[in-house]
Amino acid sequence: MAHDGYRIVLLGPPGAGKGTQAKLLAEKYGIKKISTGDILREAVRKGTPLGMKAKKYMDAGELVPDDIIVGLIEEQIEDAHSFILDGFPRTLVQAEALDRLLAERGKPLTHVIFVNVPDEEIVRRLTARRVCPKCGAVYNLIYNPPKNDEICDICGTPLVQRSDDREDVIRNRLKVYRESTAPLVDYYRKRGIFHEIDGVGKVEEVFARIESVLR
Ligand code: ADP
Ligand code: AMP
Repeated sequence: MAHDGYRIVLLGPPGAGKGTQAKLLAEKYGIKKISTGDILREAVRKGTPLGMKAKKYMDAGELVPDDIIVGLIEEQIEDAHSFILDGFPRTLVQAEALDRLLAERGKPLTHVIFVNVPDEEIVRRLTARRVCPKCGAVYNLIYNPPKNDEICDICGTPLVQRSDDREDVIRNRLKVYRESTAPLVDYYRKRGIFHEIDGVGKVEEVFARIESVLR
């Protein structure tokens, strides 16, 4: 089912399940998924100029500077008619830049979906997150374990823990979220396109809540 006019922001704390839900939405509705975290990790892995600039911030659980991220998003969105943004915007400067960019193209956001998950659940999810370094699949040792001990179901590669999923870095990411990203809830809440959903529950249950907002 291809949906032409969905321009969605998934907002929420780290570990809320944005990447998991963005992937499901992209697959089911045939919309382009733009995940700034994935793009940055790939750049770090390849050692590109972007990756070299971003690495120190990511390792510390800090935000990569706005000008770098906004430039990246401009390239990614180009003239796309529909997209799902996962992990962007994360600051007011980014949100305002996005509004300007989309206004210039006459294609404003259609949905901002805030996936809400309490802190203790976030820490539990993130410390148990494992990712496939080859194909990018995301698992959870508690909620969504691979079939064979820490091996990717899809490509058989040993899973790894993201370097920023250590408890001390997770705590800093939560602090950064509260200071810089949580204010976006107020920025968007006044608009008719804002929807808050409960991010606790099975992946399929959260997906159903998102779909009910899209309908
Ligand atoms: P985000 O992109 O918001 O940082 P992820 O989609 O990577 O979050 O999810 C964080 C971790 O929680 C992953 O290990 C993922 O498998 C797991 N997860 C995602 N959605 C749920 C859910 N509804 N219930 C439990 N665990 C989940
Ligand atoms: P994520 O995969 O969304 O958890 O992002 C991982 C890391 O990438 C973050 O902790 C930041 O260092 C960086 N990052 C991703 N998206 C952004 C963004 N929109 N603004 C600034 N930094 C970002």
